[in-house]
Amino acid sequence: MLTKQVFYQYPGTPSDGLERLAYCPDCGDPCEITKEGTDSRRHCEVCQRYHYVNPASAVSILVVRGDAFVLCRRNASSYGGGKWCLPCGFIEFREDFLTAGIRETKEETGLDIDVKSIISVTSNFLTASSHTLTVVLLAHATGGTLLGGDDIDEARWFKFTDLLPPLAFDADDHIISRYGEQPIYGAAVQHCPESARDL
Ligand SMILES: [Zn+2]
Repeated sequence: MLTKQVFYQYPGTPSDGLERLAYCPDCGDPCEITKEGTDSRRHCEVCQRYHYVNPASAVSILVVRGDAFVLCRRNASSYGGGKWCLPCGFIEFREDFLTAGIRETKEETGLDIDVKSIISVTSNFLTASSHTLTVVLLAHATGGTLLGGDDIDEARWFKFTDLLPPLAFDADDHIISRYGEQPIYGAAVQHCPESARDL
């Protein structure tokens, strides 16, 4: 679908991901490629079940201070190495997306943040084996010292009016230019008392 929230970063038709899951994650036997209706799927004959390949869930964070925001330079061994990106990363299985955003921002920039709102969701076809669904958060820095960490070489404040360095993700380019034209407030994060959490 052609929208401003879907980004194709490699040529051709998006991969169906069937090069993955060659072996059953449950029993370790080879998985066949077979049909489930009209869709090709990986199927384990031993477990008698289909295994599905889905986009990886991720989060990216636009940390804003006045007319500036934070960008990170990715290290040489990561996707888009040497290029810049918003603080971002994959959501751990145990985490909610807000916790992941706070953790990734701390790991990659050293900053503590207050997440204000959800300003976008993007589909990113990065490579044939990497497809992410990314929740984009708006946040304000509340503390910490700006310093690149984890898979980031350097973190810096840029102004929305600056000529930006090359960016690793087309989605970041879209978010930054859109916010720079006119601030997006999105859907505010609603806080509730800890006692409301039903454990
Ligand atoms: Zn199996």
